[in-house]
Amino acid sequence: MRKLQGIPGSPGVAIAPAFVFFDDDEPTIPRYSIGQGELGGEWERFRSAVERAREDVTVLRDRAAQEMGNEHGAIFDAHLLMLDDPEVLSAIELSLKESLLNIEWVLHQYAQTMVKKLEGLDDPVMQERGADVHDVTHRILNHLMFRERFSLADLDHDVVLVAHNLLPSDMIGMNHSRVRALAMDKGGKTSHTAILARAFEIPAVLGLGGATRLARNGELVVVDGSAGDVLVDPDPDSLARYEKVRARSLDRERDLAGIAQLGAATTDGREVALKANIEVPEETDSVLRHGAAGVGLFRSEFLFLQPGRKPSEEAQYLAYRRVLESLPGRPVTIRTLDVGGDKVVPELVLGEEKNPLLGWRAIRYCLADKDLFQTQLRAILRASAYGDARIMFPMISGPDELDAALLALEEAKETCRQRGQAFRDDLPVGIMIEVPSAAMIADILAAKVGFLSIGTNDLIQYTLAVDRGNERVAYLHEPFHPAILRLVRQVIDMGHAAGAVVSMCGEMAADPYAAVVLLGLGLDEFSMSAVSVPVVKRVIRSVSMSDARDIAAHVLALGSHREAEAYLRERLRGLADSDD
Ligand code: PEP
Ligand code: MG
Repeated sequence: MRKLQGIPGSPGVAIAPAFVFFDDDEPTIPRYSIGQGELGGEWERFRSAVERAREDVTVLRDRAAQEMGNEHGAIFDAHLLMLDDPEVLSAIELSLKESLLNIEWVLHQYAQTMVKKLEGLDDPVMQERGADVHDVTHRILNHLMFRERFSLADLDHDVVLVAHNLLPSDMIGMNHSRVRALAMDKGGKTSHTAILARAFEIPAVLGLGGATRLARNGELVVVDGSAGDVLVDPDPDSLARYEKVRARSLDRERDLAGIAQLGAATTDGREVALKANIEVPEETDSVLRHGAAGVGLFRSEFLFLQPGRKPSEEAQYLAYRRVLESLPGRPVTIRTLDVGGDKVVPELVLGEEKNPLLGWRAIRYCLADKDLFQTQLRAILRASAYGDARIMFPMISGPDELDAALLALEEAKETCRQRGQAFRDDLPVGIMIEVPSAAMIADILAAKVGFLSIGTNDLIQYTLAVDRGNERVAYLHEPFHPAILRLVRQVIDMGHAAGAVVSMCGEMAADPYAAVVLLGLGLDEFSMSAVSVPVVKRVIRSVSMSDARDIAAHVLALGSHREAEAYLRERLRGLADSDD
């Protein structure tokens, strides 16, 4: 038995065989000599790998052309031409004969030389060709090395998915009904993999460091996503113990399901809006099942993560409309595209950046790509005719940026008017407060919009200088750090003074201890992963506003995260049964 301790990413306990998913983009290329007599066989291996690569590319080309139009299929046509190029093939054959080295190595060397040559040219079109050569070579090498990239959508039996790191697109595309749990080497509690694991209600432990080294395919794995424990090949005693933990966890889920449909009012009758964060339209069922009052954050960027697609205005409009129509009478706050940083969208080329988290992301990117932004704004506006839609801009760092975003919204409205498309002219507009500069000037910003929503995942990251996805510094991602508490209090007070509604959609809102403090500080609305709603509802239903105010005042006077946590644990013992 091997035991690993990681970061609890998504609650719940699961026990299933491991599926170890490797997605190292740069495989180690083997290099060995071959004899004259092996040349024929080596060339044969190469030809059949090329043939299989051709089949892959043809499928991709047809799918891209069908889903997005012929021009998108053209990229793959270029790949097919390369696979057929007689000059390339004879150069590789010659090199194989001369070097008497294995074909993987020969191909790799050839491709590297080609890529270097192309990238050295002045012509940007030829430089792009370098990426195509890399792509095609990679595909052939995968076949040669039997490294067929397994699609997680094809999982056909229950597994604990053990991975080094998963892209958001892997999370979106996987067969969710078969992934009982996730055990990941990388990532932290507010990383996007964790957020999506909670969205899909898959227990997850992240930041394990070496899970992919320790687990082998098919070995039984226990994942306790609430405690952060992972057991590989458990001994019979441990297995029995975790079977009990799992049964308790299921009981607890049943209890919480009972709470979900109750109201969210304090013992002295103050109604609190508890909303859900969603990433994909399919989550609206979960929003209702967990008793959320609406959607406080729809992370629209995940619509852009479906493999091979950059959604059109029509596709986006239909997705937003579907969410609104599935939640009649409930508000839905749609956040405009928050791409960049750690949210990589393969379809949008953001280029290499040294500091992507401080770089061209979210509203900065949208303001630069006018077409993309206008398309999204029009789609949201058109959907607003079908429900209580609200719009929210991410990563605002100053007033000019906000003015530019508001201007863009006016332009989109004007286009809709000219096209005769219905929309709600007075749809509420708000911003995320997730950059310290925005928190410092919350009063200036709040005067321009109807609501502020505090995004603590990023606000903590930027205020405390802690990469939210880096497991090595995850221990520093502290919601109860005095700097964070003071900033949050300030945003609430400044927002209220300017007449804005203040909510929070960062993960801090899902922490039952924090929820009491936030309530006491006067936060108007909470938004969190749907699975967390009943947990927070339970604690809110068990405190009074005067207690909450008292607790908040006490916590704000403490000097450290540690003291605040210790105080809250003591004071709320039994009430806030935290998942951590
Ligand atoms: C946040 O930063 O707190 C937030 C809610 O946005 P995201 O997690 O999508 O960056
Ligand atoms: Mg954010």
